[in-house]
Amino acid sequence: MKALKNYINNQWVESNESSTIKVLNPANQEILATVPFGENTKNDIGEAVTAAGNAYQEWMNTPVMKRIQPLYKLKQLLEDNMNEIARLITLECGKSFAESKAEMQRGIENVETACATPTLLQSEFSENVATGIDEFMIRQPVGICACIAPFNFPGMIPFWFLPYAIACGNSFILKPSEKVPLTMMRVFELIDQLDLPGGLVNLVHGGKACVDALLDHPEVKAISFVGSTPVAKYIYQRGAANGKRVQAQGGAKNPVIIMPDAEIGMTANIVADSVYGCAGQRCLAASNIIVVGDQNGAIKEALMETAKNKTTGFGLDEGIEMGPLITPESKERVEGLIAKGLSEGAQLLLDGRNASISGYESGNFIKPCILENVPINGEIVKTEIFGPVMSLIHMDSINQAIDFVNNNNFGNMACLFTSSGLNARTFRNRANAGNIGINIGVAAPMAQFPFSGWNDSFFGDLHGQGRHAIEFFTQTKVIIERWPSEWSRKF
Ligand code: NAD
Repeated sequence: MKALKNYINNQWVESNESSTIKVLNPANQEILATVPFGENTKNDIGEAVTAAGNAYQEWMNTPVMKRIQPLYKLKQLLEDNMNEIARLITLECGKSFAESKAEMQRGIENVETACATPTLLQSEFSENVATGIDEFMIRQPVGICACIAPFNFPGMIPFWFLPYAIACGNSFILKPSEKVPLTMMRVFELIDQLDLPGGLVNLVHGGKACVDALLDHPEVKAISFVGSTPVAKYIYQRGAANGKRVQAQGGAKNPVIIMPDAEIGMTANIVADSVYGCAGQRCLAASNIIVVGDQNGAIKEALMETAKNKTTGFGLDEGIEMGPLITPESKERVEGLIAKGLSEGAQLLLDGRNASISGYESGNFIKPCILENVPINGEIVKTEIFGPVMSLIHMDSINQAIDFVNNNNFGNMACLFTSSGLNARTFRNRANAGNIGINIGVAAPMAQFPFSGWNDSFFGDLHGQGRHAIEFFTQTKVIIERWPSEWSRKF
């Protein structure tokens, strides 16, 4: 099987690296492709940067209204090819077909939002800051920007950055996750139809060697990273030490509080969707579910019922709600964390381990699991599980629950279910997380809002999406001007 090619300077080119790793369908271990992986991928970065540098010289001075025109065409191409791209997402990443389509929709919304760049780029002007002196600020592009993406949203996450970067006048290099490179391969075939200047948008495969080359290359000016917290921290530190601007989104451990006044049926459905959607491999997956007051066990029963009924299997099969985990190692890790929870004193109310799916016996499947009475200082309460596991925790008051929420190293999301406006207001004011949901299970910001992780869920200042993206992908220049009448020619 031939290794996947890079896309550099509007050409599909072989990598400098001959070693490869396999891209596998997580539902059955079928080999889908092989992708370059090894030290020599760093030389691919050199080639991509040269191409991106050349493209930037012309693109930076291309009028913004012209720079957004390819985005309209891209939106149309993505919509026209939605089913095919979603199918690829499911094949390599495992989520259900419906989830893959929803993911692409979110990506497309970022392309649409970036079409507002001409307005978003408009700037400030003060006349007569002193007599006869005017001062104004403009935003100019930063240069070559790079994105390093994770495995769990192969179709959406690159679009948190790419459309804004190019609309703002930058050139771009994308390094998708080596576990799921096929989705962006297809997207780049569509990008190839946009007739962009050669080198404006490039795709390079690889892992750490290739990422380090991006972090160290003096011509790369900005890095957008999404992935696990240890790598996010590393990317932020190494990129910043090299003088780059960096936005690095990390992992999560998202708490959800269910108050006694929450509507039980709706709440159970929404919370279970949040925990088990994408098999829990979502940075906005609910994980620690804090039930305030017992409600005679009604909420627990409703959650159990909803969880039990999730249909698990290969995401392209009819009616499948939950797919496999990305790798056998991920499955083993999640099972290890469940065992850890049990050793810490939790009980397994619903055991989805040892799931065998007919026809997909070698898939990385775990069905929904529910742990109860998880000790609040235990490892499982603090560690990102990234699998279909709900940890139920019982508490007596909203204050106790909010204190628990705030004793969290991460800060990607926190949610509250209630029918009380006062509870909601107290929670949104006090909860230490960047994305808050009130009666919402996955508080994913729409494209016009920043994806606002806090604490160990984010390293940097400006987040992805919306206005933050415009700020991240531009640098401000402040100009102060005087035109004295005695120096100016008069006609
Ligand atoms: P990961 O950190 O393993 O990999 C992410 C990217 O970094 C990949 O492209 C990979 O090739 C590269 N990489 C991995 N190790 C590296 C290293 N040592 N040096 C340099 N580059 C390296 O993450 P993943 O497993 O692909 O994705 C899952 C994680 O991403 C979860 O922790 C999840 O919470 C997080 N995530 C966060 C968000 C968010 O918005 N905060 C969104 C999606 C996923």
